[in-house]
Amino acid sequence: MNSDFSQKVLAWFDIHGRKNLPWQASKTPYSVWVSEIMLQQTQVKTVIPYFQRFMQSFPNVLDLANAPQDEVLHHWTGLGYYARARNLQKAAQVIRDQYQGNFPQQIEQLIALPGIGRSTAGAILSLACNQHHSILDGNVKRVLARYFAVEGWPGSKKVETELWQFADQLTPANRTGDYTQAMMDMGATLCSRSKPKCDSCPLASSCLAFVQGRQAELPHKKPKKDIPVKSTIMLIPMWQQQVFIYKRPPSGLWGGLWGFHQVDSQQHIIPQAEKLGFDVSNDNAQQSELPAFRHTFSHFHLDITPVILHLKQQPTGQVMEDSQMWFDLLAPQNVGLAAPTKKLFSTISKNF
Ligand code: SF4
Repeated sequence: MNSDFSQKVLAWFDIHGRKNLPWQASKTPYSVWVSEIMLQQTQVKTVIPYFQRFMQSFPNVLDLANAPQDEVLHHWTGLGYYARARNLQKAAQVIRDQYQGNFPQQIEQLIALPGIGRSTAGAILSLACNQHHSILDGNVKRVLARYFAVEGWPGSKKVETELWQFADQLTPANRTGDYTQAMMDMGATLCSRSKPKCDSCPLASSCLAFVQGRQAELPHKKPKKDIPVKSTIMLIPMWQQQVFIYKRPPSGLWGGLWGFHQVDSQQHIIPQAEKLGFDVSNDNAQQSELPAFRHTFSHFHLDITPVILHLKQQPTGQVMEDSQMWFDLLAPQNVGLAAPTKKLFSTISKNF
């Protein structure tokens, strides 16, 4: 049964699999790793231009390890989940310092690097080195959960363990890299979340979800949990076409990215502005609100009210350090920006 499964998958791959993606052109552990990290939570068509720009700027692991963090985060701006970029660079630095810049090739060594789990390590080694390792990313979980009609949410430990067992049993020792790519492709192009194309699927005759008509129900969804709503005011000191931003601490929410100072309530706006060294006395600064909007993280919603502090005279009281700057909206600097910051830059620019 196992070889029957993999043979069908490989035969389908030979005809329909994706073979011209930019990271397939010259597969190295480094290029496969970068693509795999970008593809987590993000679709192929979104990733392609980011991958190309990233590889142009950081063509190898040492270039990435030695780059300023701002430069790396700038290349990630818009992709979200910035911990991925920070971990990518941290791991590159470990490879530089502990492996003399040579990409480690044992699965345990890869799993020990920041941001690389078992499935990503398996994908890198099977795709770039044709080693015999299985993977279990979101696409493969969906195919296997449907094929075997696995009950329960695939994110739970119990279901995940069961799916890993299936993945290990089915992954062939020959053509492991092609099989890995084939399973990713099937999950993305045939066995999609909604409206899977079962009529074109080589596994249909033995797929339990198809036979039982349960494709819409499987895999089971994550049990619903209400996520809390928090709110914040983003304070935007503005002088002509420049806005005042700061670099957030390296870890935590939007770690290492540039953004606006935040306060909890309207009463804190003036004290915070004064703390930052702005002269808000004698009508020197006028406040205006932009429309509030919601930014949703995996674990909470953040309702953001942006407040612009229009300064009438050129401000001079700020201590300009590495961690704060006047950002020129007409001549943007290359720094990493959180999605709401980028959105606000564009809203403000439209109102010039
Ligand atoms: S038959 Fe349909 S549900 Fe089953 S694996 Fe193929 S595409 Fe997915």
